Parts: sequence; C-alpha cells; structure tokens
Amino acid sequence: MNSDIDIISNKQYSLKLTSKDSHPEDSIVDVDGVKIGGKNIVVIAGPCSVENEEQYITIAKAVKKSGAEILRGGAYKPRSSPYSFQGLEEEGLKIMKKAKEETGLPIVTEVMDLEHFTLVESYADMLQIGARNMQNFSLLKRAGKSNKPILLKRGIAATIEELLLAAEYIMAGGNTKVILCERGIRTFETYTRNTLDLSAIPAVKILSHLPIIVDPSHASGRWDMINPLSKAAIAVGSHGLMVEVHHEPEKAFSDGPQSLKLNKFDDLMIEINKMKNFI
Ligand code: PEP
Ligand code: MN
Repeated sequence: MNSDIDIISNKQYSLKLTSKDSHPEDSIVDVDGVKIGGKNIVVIAGPCSVENEEQYITIAKAVKKSGAEILRGGAYKPRSSPYSFQGLEEEGLKIMKKAKEETGLPIVTEVMDLEHFTLVESYADMLQIGARNMQNFSLLKRAGKSNKPILLKRGIAATIEELLLAAEYIMAGGNTKVILCERGIRTFETYTRNTLDLSAIPAVKILSHLPIIVDPSHASGRWDMINPLSKAAIAVGSHGLMVEVHHEPEKAFSDGPQSLKLNKFDDLMIEINKMKNFI
C-alpha cells in the first residue's frame, strides 16, 4: 500500500513518531536546562527583532527580572515586504549571545533558510522555524539532523494535521526535541492580525505527546489583547507562551503594535504565576 493511501485510510499511521500512540507520556524538551512540556509552564519573551545591543540587553534584563525563562529575538526576519527591516543577521546573533551571558537565559531565534542553518545553530539554544516555513521540507529535514530543540510554528493556513506532519519530518530525521507553537491562523476576521486557534492546544494534546506553546503576539497583532489571550492559552493547557516585549514599542523596528511594554509584561507574569497554582 503506498503511503498516500495510508494517510487517507488511516491518519494515525502517518503520525508515527508525533502521535500519542507512539509515546503515551508527555514529552519534555530541555532547552539548555529549561524544561518545556508536562506540568511546566514556560514563558519565552523578548523583542520581535534584535535592533542593537542596548535595546536587546535592556529588554533581556527586564524580562528576566519579571520571570521569563527563555529569551526570544529575531536576527533573520521573514518580513512581508522586502523594504522592511530584515534583521541584523550574525551581528544580531552575537548580541543575543551576549544577552545570554549577562542574564543566564537560553536564547531562541529563527532560522529562515538552509544557507544560514549551521551559523544560527551555532549560536542558538533553540531554533525557531517560522510560520512561513512550516512546510519548507528541506529546512525541516535539516532541522531533523540538528541536535538543538526546534520551535515549530504553525503555518498561517496549516491544519493541525499538517503541523504534526511537519513535526514528523523533524522527528523522522532523528531530532525528537520538537516544541509546537500556535501563533494564529488566517481567517475572514480582520480586526486581529490572525485568529488564535485555542482549540489547537487541546487537539494537539489529544493527538500528540509533543509540548505546545502559544504566541499571542502574532496571533492578535495587538498589545492590548496579549494579557487575556495569554491567560486563555494557559487555561486550555498550553505548556507556555512566547510574548513580544519592547521597552519602546513605538520605536520598534518590527511588530511594535503587538509588543508589551516592560511594566505590562511584568503585570502579565504576576497573573500567569498565580494561574500556575491551580492549573
Ligand atoms: C516571529 O516569531 O518573529 C515570527 C516572525 O513569527 P511567525 O513565524 O509566527 O510569523
Ligand atoms: Mn514579530
């Protein structure tokens, strides 16, 4: 029987490594000492883009103080317009490494293409595959050969099954350290940048043993929705959050309108920590 027919007749068969059947216990992924999955709730925070050393270190120190456990930041940015800021590239990675040295927090950053894979891999503690690349199969296969954890974001128009099949590519290559991320999908609604599919969290937890976190920043595109969506995400079982934070959102090179100010992020962390007691 060829495998395409198997997918139609028996969907579970195609999810050999990601399905709960193959691994009944929840997987816990270790990101340089920070454990994501199981009962843990981990918050990843930082700016959309690394802009300069002062900006990044300021934000890194503030989010650490508020209780974030992993730093995010983009050095290679997948921008919709070729005229928008494209990222500081390796200079951005160096700044992130410095922030790790100063705060002790692991770093996650996006790897956009095969060309830069080995370079980004040499700096990052976790590699992000962005929504636009969720079905870039060459990139997924290369990620499967990496020894670093992979944060795989759901594609803008990807089904839950397609997300799990993308994770399957990475796992089939030998890398079992995969964390999924629901970051909103495109619907007919335009008030928010995307529509946060909260059902994806329990759905993934029914189907798979892999950890799943929520990115309310790209899901909504609005800083004033981050707090309620974050709490909703934790309430439906998310293993964590990835939140964009900026000390001066009005001056941000990218995604300022969806970035929380430092004090608002601190408020959010107080509420999330309270929620941890009854989840
Ligand atoms: C990001 O996290 O910076 C990003 C570009 O996210 P996404 O791939 O979900 O759009
Ligand atoms: Mn962003």
